[in-house]
Amino acid sequence: MIVAIDGPAGSGKSTVALTLARRLGFFHLDTGAMYRALTWLAREEGVGLDDGPALARLAREHPVSFDAEGRVEIAGHEVAGAIREAEIDRLVPVVARHREVREVMRERQHALGSAGDAVIEGRDIGTVVAPEAEVKVFLVADESERARRRGEDRPGVGADTLAEDLRIRDERDAVNTRPAADALVLDTTQLSVDEVVSRIAALVTERR
Ligand code: C5P
Repeated sequence: MIVAIDGPAGSGKSTVALTLARRLGFFHLDTGAMYRALTWLAREEGVGLDDGPALARLAREHPVSFDAEGRVEIAGHEVAGAIREAEIDRLVPVVARHREVREVMRERQHALGSAGDAVIEGRDIGTVVAPEAEVKVFLVADESERARRRGEDRPGVGADTLAEDLRIRDERDAVNTRPAADALVLDTTQLSVDEVVSRIAALVTERR
């Protein structure tokens, strides 16, 4: 079974997807981490972020891999920490908007996510990567709550900068971030992680 969890930054996707995957014993695939790792590598290798074909080649040559301990590897580097820097937050939508890059990522995401039961989180999982997913959820939350959550993840970055970064990223990601017609849209503003996870787990039980 595939559970697709989509939504914008700060909607609660990552925490919810990881907690749900652990609770169900499903594989957890964080597709945002794949775009982040590619962005990190492109900077490292001096590949232009406007060059879609070159970025797609880089992605094909260096597939991202994950392990059960949360390590993220690309081209022999462990980048789990480095890809969460505010600088990468800002640059990743520039890389992710290239059609050629998305094609390579989609293939890899499909291969990684369809081997068994999986919770796949991202922006276009229910619509493009796994439209066949049995459970589709699209998480949303108020802007101020999303900025507050970002602040917890990015200590040291000022509140105004975070709110502005979020606004720009929303704008850049908008084209690839939308709920599937058959997705449950869930507002997490007032909900705890446990409440969100329990609701999705109930859907999984229902669909099984
Ligand atoms: O989810 P996360 O914030 O880690 O995603 C980082 C970036 O990767 C997003 O801002 C977006 O540009 C890109 N992304 C995407 N499609 C996905 C997942 C992430 O375009 N399925």
